[in-house]
Amino acid sequence: MPLKFAGSEVQEYLVKGRRFIRMTSLRKEIADLRAQGRILYSGNTQLREIALTFDDGPDPNYTPQILDVLQRYGIKATFFCIGRQVEAYPQIVRQEYEAGHVIGNHSWTHPDLGLLPASDILSELNQTFGAIQEVIGVQLAFFRPPYGSLSTQVLAQACHLGVTTVMWNAGEEARDWSRPGVKFIIRQILSLVRNGSIILMHDGGGDRSQTVAALPVIIQRLQDRGFQLVTIQQMVDGLQENLTL
Ligand SMILES: [Zn+2]
Repeated sequence: MPLKFAGSEVQEYLVKGRRFIRMTSLRKEIADLRAQGRILYSGNTQLREIALTFDDGPDPNYTPQILDVLQRYGIKATFFCIGRQVEAYPQIVRQEYEAGHVIGNHSWTHPDLGLLPASDILSELNQTFGAIQEVIGVQLAFFRPPYGSLSTQVLAQACHLGVTTVMWNAGEEARDWSRPGVKFIIRQILSLVRNGSIILMHDGGGDRSQTVAALPVIIQRLQDRGFQLVTIQQMVDGLQENLTL
């Protein structure tokens, strides 16, 4: 089904040297897509479940350490992989998949897709889908835009490819990628989670030793609070079950 969007306005601004982008006119498009289950910010808030998601891998050093922690606790998570990292370390993606984790597309080169024309967005996505499918033999259902940057074109291309765009609603404030300290990461994440939270963390793109160190504590505390840790696919299934009740 073709999707029609009104033209969106990309507003760029700088905070402390970092570039941020605000989509001033995407609110309605996003609301429509959320209602259709084409974009996800959280799971079913009636269910005591949380999804851990890891971006920017696979990384030869940190991803295996994160996989070890997840295995120790019997937890399944979701990995949004960068295509060129997949090409460099296909065996790690295979390991993620074979361990029962869900793999998602995080573009080929991690550009700001919100600023790119449709043809570039499509090639970033298609190249990554192709590379991952070659490694694990299945088509992916999920995509997460780098920096969470959305535009009409990004949303339209994801819809065109028939994949769900997965955002998050917890973890951003923990800024695990900036190495703010293990205790800070733990405290921020635990203070923000609630039923259906999608937590953003990073297994690649730099030194992720603090994320690795924080992870067992985060998992233990969440389990102590009665949360079940699920993949994005399980979260989506939970939403659909609810709709048919
Ligand atoms: Zn990223």
